[in-house]
Amino acid sequence: MQSYSELFAAGDLIFREGDPPDGAFLIESGRIEISTHQFGEHRVLGELGPGMLLGEMAVIDDSPRTATARALTPCRLTRIDAGQFAERLASADPVVRALLLSQLTRYRSALAKLTGGVERVGDARLEDHRDASAIGKIRLESELRTALDRRELEVRLQPIEEIESGHVAGYEALVRWTHPQRGDVSPAEFIRLAEETSLIVPIGDYMLERVCDVLVELRRRGRKPLPFVALNVSARQLDDPGLIDRIIGHVRARDLPPNRLKIEITESLVLDQERIGSLLARCHAVGMPVALDDFGTGFSNLGPLLTLDFDQIKLDASFVRALDRPRGRSVVGVVVAMTRALDCDLVAEGVETREQREALHRLGCRYAQGWLVGRPQPLEQVLNG
Ligand code: C2E
Ligand code: CA
Ligand code: CA
Repeated sequence: MQSYSELFAAGDLIFREGDPPDGAFLIESGRIEISTHQFGEHRVLGELGPGMLLGEMAVIDDSPRTATARALTPCRLTRIDAGQFAERLASADPVVRALLLSQLTRYRSALAKLTGGVERVGDARLEDHRDASAIGKIRLESELRTALDRRELEVRLQPIEEIESGHVAGYEALVRWTHPQRGDVSPAEFIRLAEETSLIVPIGDYMLERVCDVLVELRRRGRKPLPFVALNVSARQLDDPGLIDRIIGHVRARDLPPNRLKIEITESLVLDQERIGSLLARCHAVGMPVALDDFGTGFSNLGPLLTLDFDQIKLDASFVRALDRPRGRSVVGVVVAMTRALDCDLVAEGVETREQREALHRLGCRYAQGWLVGRPQPLEQVLNG
């Protein structure tokens, strides 16, 4: 039977220092000596055994072998194609890739010093454009952490209007970051970055506190009826089992009516029905409403809506933009009928023109949010308005 592994006898050369990197190996059995030439002398660097990788370094950064591998005992090795690593590396988290390549560069430079060879620090493949973007990401994330610590992230509130009465019923809280060099960084960019690590959790807590404080201030200034404020909560935040308790704790500590704080979760999360079901149950138990955000962008399966009783559905802006076509109006009309059947309110997002608001009104949509109603506003403007 043909074997997938290769056999080497004791003393066989597996590869030599300076050879091109034609693949790596997984050691199935036997022992291998790794050696190099130091100032013309043979010098053993170490020994490898079963379960270890051999020759992977040269494959990772596509450089010639920096050491020689020779079988000390009979060996069985499974060859790993260079492409297998390359593909995984290309799809790996760019930050992890940058860490790996940085370590590799450092190791090679130390090895070069040891063997009297030429230092190859300049070869650092971190100059590769993908990895330069990883370094940019590492830098941006550190700056975001600092901005959060210094409480430099700003909360903007975008008004949500009840179309029939023309009154502002509430606001959506949107985070803003003014970077000292780059200016305004879009949350579309930095929220995604924060979600890749757990940094989104303290950012979410910061937003929660700020939003609760705004509600307290609006109440103190006698705003009646007290508007609701909607808070965006992303997947990573929901992984945190203490989140809902913290939200409820902040609302109770300020003695706020729980129905004035609204949670917005994006449609793509709804496929995890069990998790969202328990979130809804916990929020509803204390009277806190939950909205389904970006409706129409995530799934074509309406099944989850049969069991998940959202209080509000937010229709994605792409549907509002389609209102100038009969087809678009028909689809929005169907969504209005559906939300009525589900007994929840509909908010249309991204409303920019009077025509869009009129079309929504005619179709029976209750709320509108968008630049026509108002841009996301600084807190002072909302408090003084
Ligand atoms: P989103 O929840 O869908 O928020 C609506 C986005 O549409 C906001 O972008 C808002 O500024 C923008 N927008 C509102 N009206 C209009 C309009 O008439 N036309 C157009 N073209 N755009 C309009 P923004 O503020 O850049 O936020 C982007 C996304 O970042 C949000 O999308 C939300 O998913 C996320 N995000 C923002 N703040 C937070 C936060 O505090 N926590 C979390 N987890 N996510 C947040
Ligand atoms: Ca939202
Ligand atoms: Ca949205």
